[in-house]
Amino acid sequence: MFIDKAKIFIKSGDGGNGAVSFRREKYIPLGGPDGGDGGDGGDVVLVADPNMTTLLDFTYKRKYKAEAGQSGAGSKCYGKDGEDLYIKVPMGTVIKEVESGKVMADLSHANDKFVVAKGGKGGKGNVKFCTPTRQAPNFAEPGMPGEEFNIVLELKLLADVGLLGFPNVGKSTMLSMVSNARPKIANYHFTTLSPNLGVVGLSGIEPFVIADIPGIIEGAAEGVGLGLDFLRHIERTRLLIHVVDISGIEGRDPYEDFLKINEELKRYSVKLWDRPQIVAANKIDILQDESKFEEFKEKVEKLGYKNVFEISAATRQGVDDLMKEAARILSTIPVVDLEIKEADKFVPEEKKFTYTIRQEEDTFIVEGSFVDRLLASVNVNDPDGLRYFHTVLKNKGIIDELVQMGIEDGDIVRLNHFEFEFIL
Ligand code: GDP
Ligand code: MG
Repeated sequence: MFIDKAKIFIKSGDGGNGAVSFRREKYIPLGGPDGGDGGDGGDVVLVADPNMTTLLDFTYKRKYKAEAGQSGAGSKCYGKDGEDLYIKVPMGTVIKEVESGKVMADLSHANDKFVVAKGGKGGKGNVKFCTPTRQAPNFAEPGMPGEEFNIVLELKLLADVGLLGFPNVGKSTMLSMVSNARPKIANYHFTTLSPNLGVVGLSGIEPFVIADIPGIIEGAAEGVGLGLDFLRHIERTRLLIHVVDISGIEGRDPYEDFLKINEELKRYSVKLWDRPQIVAANKIDILQDESKFEEFKEKVEKLGYKNVFEISAATRQGVDDLMKEAARILSTIPVVDLEIKEADKFVPEEKKFTYTIRQEEDTFIVEGSFVDRLLASVNVNDPDGLRYFHTVLKNKGIIDELVQMGIEDGDIVRLNHFEFEFIL
């Protein structure tokens, strides 16, 4: 099965807590602080693995968590860092953040790496909070939590050549003839509900990857039906082989088909439409009137498509020549990288710690990431911790700002769930 989109949850490791510990020595009941730092949490890293071709694994396992850092310990022992978690994804995987839909990374080359979630920093042990006036800090910093994201993995096929054309014109037949791929072939529409990939390796040519793209239907560019989803797969192809059924066995006119498909393509992506196209008039083996091919050829040549082949995917007539021409054209076109518009790029939240203050009657509410960070790192139930907490508020300029706002003794200051009475 070919899975081209998967939604997963990832979380980096939490940082380990710093330790509160005091030296113990003979005859010294309470020595100096010696609590070590907690270890950093592990990162979650995505890696492009050239041996992977589908996102199937991600339908079985949807949650990925990196290891947490270990807590610090006494004797200034540092906690061990959490192990990074490496997740392998196929080459050509685009990573998007679910909530914003923005692109975080595009792993299109072998072994491309992307740290999608950084591990939380380990907290400092109490030894780090020792100052001349605070000889025995009875608190330490807890580790910072890891980051978590819901992400979508989207596989953009790295096919060099896309097979384009109405359903039933013989795309799958051609693919199975020239490559190792074994797509379903049947005489009804939409046999191919997911694209098939195959490697074309003929002697004397550079091997290339060819993708059978399921039939575009009218209205696909507007998102009607299945078409649009499949069109995504050919975004990176460098060359298109546009297959038409020249026999007209299904009662349609091959030239009309050709125009319709190109119209759809253009509406979806002008860039894609601009790619070179080889036109393959298929089912030549059952064409009664050879002049029909000549007529078709003349018409598409007038549109500027000079590369027209008559083939039979079923008997392989003309197919190898077509593939050789495809290889020749490919050798002249560089690989296209996916273009991500600046506006579509994911911007990580600022790591700067900020706060705001607002007043509600006699209560002054201080909010923001700075407050979250401070409360996470200080034990306010401990007198030493509380003192440190006030020092930080003062150093940050919050106390001055409160005074400027007209705070008076006895007013309440609220930071998240923690409140205290203001006394200057
Ligand atoms: P797709 O929908 O474009 O992938 O078309 P398929 O490859 O599934 O083919 C549709 C039908 O056309 C099948 O019954 C094939 O056997 C038949 N077919 C494909 N190529 C040829 C050909 O060159 N000659 C003839 N006579 N039939 C063909
Ligand atoms: Mg098919």
